[in-house]
Amino acid sequence: MEKTNRYNMEGIVLEIPLRWDEYSQKLVEDYSDFIKHPVRTPAGHPIFLTIEDACPYAEMADDDPASIDCGSCIHFHQPHGSLLGVCHNEKMRFKTQKPTKLGTGTVK
Ligand code: SF4
Repeated sequence: MEKTNRYNMEGIVLEIPLRWDEYSQKLVEDYSDFIKHPVRTPAGHPIFLTIEDACPYAEMADDDPASIDCGSCIHFHQPHGSLLGVCHNEKMRFKTQKPTKLGTGTVK
């Protein structure tokens, strides 16, 4: 049986598979399916990886020039233990999406 980490991201359930990483010698989350099929919360907020390039609407939490990704943005809400997070910037919200368009809400 495949090992997964399960997250409820503001109403959408994501099951992220785990794979063995030889370099770190531990199980790590495999985001390849998530990258191919990005999802949004039922409220229309997009879910990104913390390492994704910042968008033009970013508001960085500090003035560090190294802050170039979503993980440094004040709009990014990230659950503990995952590289995934929800963007709460209203400019990025997809306002016409209905929850039923998310299918089961599960990434496999
Ligand atoms: S969290 Fe949202 S607003 Fe911030 S950089 Fe990422 S996509 Fe842009």
